Amino acid sequence: MTGNEYLQGKRAVVTGGSRGIGEAIVRVLHHAGAKVAVNYRSSADRAGRIVGELNEIRPNSARAFGADVSDPKEVAAMFSSIDEWVGGVDVLINNAGYEDCRHLLDISYESWTKVLHTNLTGPFLCTQEAGRRMETQFRADSASSGVIINLSSIHDSVPRKGFAHYSAAKSAVAMLTKATALELAEYNVRAVTVAPGAIRTDMNREEIAQFGEHRFREWIPLSRVGETHDVSELVAFLCGPQAAYVTGSHLYVDGGYMQGLVQYDPRPPR
Ligand code: NAP
Repeated sequence: MTGNEYLQGKRAVVTGGSRGIGEAIVRVLHHAGAKVAVNYRSSADRAGRIVGELNEIRPNSARAFGADVSDPKEVAAMFSSIDEWVGGVDVLINNAGYEDCRHLLDISYESWTKVLHTNLTGPFLCTQEAGRRMETQFRADSASSGVIINLSSIHDSVPRKGFAHYSAAKSAVAMLTKATALELAEYNVRAVTVAPGAIRTDMNREEIAQFGEHRFREWIPLSRVGETHDVSELVAFLCGPQAAYVTGSHLYVDGGYMQGLVQYDPRPPR
């Protein structure tokens, strides 16, 4: 016990919890006292290792669930298995994501649908499954509340070459958050979008190296690439009681990237 288990008794589901930002979110929610369902698609070994470590700290506090979030049957089966394990859901983190950088004119139908289905249909399916459970849970017990966090991207509002499908999906998921906040508020469920900038994970490690990290330091006002904890700590805060009045909001975690896009420079003298 750390004395700061503000999510004690909460049951959290983190999609794409096997790597990167998702893994960091799994760890911080667990540290705050939650029981965590760690979803993965292909990284069974990694998910198993994370869950093993967490169960060493608190027995039966984490379990891995394989499911492709874009497949309605697999999502339904995953939530049924989570019911059997912990009997419900209090927190859903729609983190699983996929990008496939291609020129707009070269995006195949398959690439379009995979990017849209992973980044948008997945959060929709998981929100329905979790939301239906939260509807009955929190109607009966209005002192408790549910939380749904959707991971978007700065590219939900700023386009980038090669990201037409990814940007379209992330922009839509940000609107899904607002619809969720509006429609589930009567069940005491909050929904928030967290939109990262450049965060060092498998998704963009090569890209950061290819462009050169010094260029990111120039582009980003806080002068560094983000780390996974920069996102996970905010997500955990949003799940907790201190964020009880926050819903429908959209938060960038980008070191000020979005504010530094116009780079006429040099700085005015002072
Ligand atoms: P990552 O390192 O590439 O990890 C992606 C995670 O998503 C993995 O756990 C992967 O599971 C899972 N996943 C992918 N497709 C899935 C599917 N169909 N069903 C279930 N799980 C699936 O990504 P990340 O950088 O941590 O990104 C996490 C989220 O933040 C994403 O939504 C991403 O779009 C967003 N984001 C990231 C950045 C960044 O700079 N990294 C910036 C903006 C937004 P397996 O390993 O099991 O396949």
